[in-house]
Amino acid sequence: MKAAIFEKPGLENLKIRHDLERPKITDHDVLIRVKMAGVNPIDHTTVSGTREIKPLPHIPGAETSGTVEECGRHVKSLKKGDRVIVYNIVFDGICDMCMSGDEMLCRNGGLLSLVANGGFAEYMAVPEKSTFKIPNEMQWELAASLPVTTLTPYHALKQAALKINEFLVIFGASGNTGMMATQFGKKMGAKVIAVSKQNWIKDFGADYIITEYDAVAEKVKDLTQGKMADVVLNSLGVQTWENSFASVGLNGRWVTFGGLTGADVKLNVQSLYSKQIKLVGCNGGTRKEMTEVIDMSKELKTRVWKKFTLDEAKEALEALFAKERDGRILLNVS
Ligand SMILES: [Zn+2]
Repeated sequence: MKAAIFEKPGLENLKIRHDLERPKITDHDVLIRVKMAGVNPIDHTTVSGTREIKPLPHIPGAETSGTVEECGRHVKSLKKGDRVIVYNIVFDGICDMCMSGDEMLCRNGGLLSLVANGGFAEYMAVPEKSTFKIPNEMQWELAASLPVTTLTPYHALKQAALKINEFLVIFGASGNTGMMATQFGKKMGAKVIAVSKQNWIKDFGADYIITEYDAVAEKVKDLTQGKMADVVLNSLGVQTWENSFASVGLNGRWVTFGGLTGADVKLNVQSLYSKQIKLVGCNGGTRKEMTEVIDMSKELKTRVWKKFTLDEAKEALEALFAKERDGRILLNVS
């Protein structure tokens, strides 16, 4: 089969090979013929080598959709031809975290595409318990945006306990996860303030748009009549830390699932306790939430900027940081 694969870290080492064997499946696995894969910053860090990965040589790709090609002997819920997406967490199902329904925190697991091969390949083998059927009418572009880009902000807003009529500020609202967070914020009944330079984010449900990153706290103050935000979602990291934290109001929640521009921030503890602010860290989402996201998928949309072929995997990863990027990047695998 064909796959994008690297033997040692570094984007320059990512090669396309045609001579790889199809992965073998066990009795409880499903062989998936990959249709479309999402391209995310996590894939870039996987290839560039800032995270520990196995096995080597390694196939990246954290966000996968496709069709079932073959089922293991004990697989009952799926059959050949079913359209599916892949829950991108490797988990054992037997530790205390898994038993509490927090598979993404599994003590013996990790991210699929880091601790196991990912989906930048024609075929991938996945346990049945990580394979989710999707409706026939769902576009592949949305399917390939559910496991990482949609599940992550959905879980984050639930962790933040976002309530009806609250003010939600989203940094990077027109980014991959931001446009999904904007839609969920609206569905959850919040007043969504999108921090973004893109006006189209209004079509995703933003009530207000703030275009100047340096003036966010000031603008949030105006929009909330001085109360400030109830929830601030910011996964952009250190560059936007000060302005995002300053935008949180009394009893507010500052939520993150990433640190794109750097993870080390300076925190004044007094500003945290005096306003009774909660800092909420989030990592992926649960399988239960994956089913909820699929249930809601008819009401969700994504914005695609560019599609690449599997042969162009390296270009797709490079394009993630293109200044002109304006929407998702996807890999059309087969
Ligand atoms: Zn576990």
